[in-house]
Amino acid sequence: MKDIQHYMRSGTLQLAALPPLSLYVHLPWCLKKCPYCDFNSHEVAGEMPEQRYIDAVVADLEASLPLVWGRTVHSIFIGGGTPSLFSPQAIDRLLADIRARLKLTPDCEITLEANPGTFEKDRFRAFRSAGVTRLSVGVQSFDDRHLKALGRVHDRAQAIAAVEEAAQAFDTFNLDIMYALPGQTLESLEQDMRQALALQPPHISIYHLTIEANTYFAKFPPVIPEEDMAYAMLDKITEMTGAAGLQRYEVSAYAKPGHRCFHNLNYWQFGDYLGIGAGAHSKLSFAHRVVRQVRFREPKLYMEKALAGDAVTQETEVARADLPFEFMLNALRLRDGFKLQDFADKTGLPLSAIQKGLEEAERKGLIERDFVQVKPTERGFDFLNDLQSLFLTE
Ligand code: SF4
Repeated sequence: MKDIQHYMRSGTLQLAALPPLSLYVHLPWCLKKCPYCDFNSHEVAGEMPEQRYIDAVVADLEASLPLVWGRTVHSIFIGGGTPSLFSPQAIDRLLADIRARLKLTPDCEITLEANPGTFEKDRFRAFRSAGVTRLSVGVQSFDDRHLKALGRVHDRAQAIAAVEEAAQAFDTFNLDIMYALPGQTLESLEQDMRQALALQPPHISIYHLTIEANTYFAKFPPVIPEEDMAYAMLDKITEMTGAAGLQRYEVSAYAKPGHRCFHNLNYWQFGDYLGIGAGAHSKLSFAHRVVRQVRFREPKLYMEKALAGDAVTQETEVARADLPFEFMLNALRLRDGFKLQDFADKTGLPLSAIQKGLEEAERKGLIERDFVQVKPTERGFDFLNDLQSLFLTE
């Protein structure tokens, strides 16, 4: 990592104030690698080096402190991998070490990702006592056939028990659900959603199963529903969640009032985040530049490097010309879009940088706007890639 003076030197951007800051912590192990997963997750071989890994993450944070000096953290997200494989004692220590080094807002949202296995479920209350305020449960489906096809280690009964426990132990929680699964029909999707909604989740994140490069599914592709069917499924999901009082506030996120995920909203609103842990990404703003960082990906190497105070493998300054697209890629995912002032505040650019793109988008019926706010229309939401690409620079 470079000296702080390097980040503070003058540049072409003018950021009047810095955006809200979030913290992401990556815990990279899983019991078993799922065949569709391209995250930085690794099968636990033998015992997990829990203590050494937390030591490394804390050393990583220490080394990063000068870049976020004096700033308040609004949310923490402990993601993975399967963070619920870490003991509540380890999570307690991690959060205590973070609190000792960073100022958190009094209502700081602290999310932990959990798998719905029995072993994890029995720890939910202890995670709550450690300071976690929000649990994100990786259910994916309540249908045993689909869970098997996805190579998940839990079954339907475990998923239901885990969600019931999450509802008891936490004031707010999320369910991750996937659709367009191998062999899934509209009827089985409907059944899955009915089960999910019967558990009254305050927040659901819905993901289309995609076949990513370098996964088992890329080598041995399963037969998945056609595109038209996938659209019909998404419509069904939006209809059913809407009827249950969950509003689609982002392309893949649905929430009851008061239960939107602050952490993810901060990503979409082009806020700042410091990402620590193996392979974690950061986006940090300074008065005259926006910087992106990536940590070493492989856990063993990451631990060595982080403990030596050198966890960052890649660092780039976002080019002035790329900022409009980067901002739009995130902000247009939101149902409510963004405030024009927010664009200027978070990119440090004048509004003229997006004027042409906005005019074109309006002409094509992809956005609606006034002098304050820009919002994707229904059509813009359906053709999001086309809308976002209007802000690409040649
Ligand atoms: S549990 Fe999640 S992070 Fe782990 S391999 Fe499966 S999909 Fe990937």
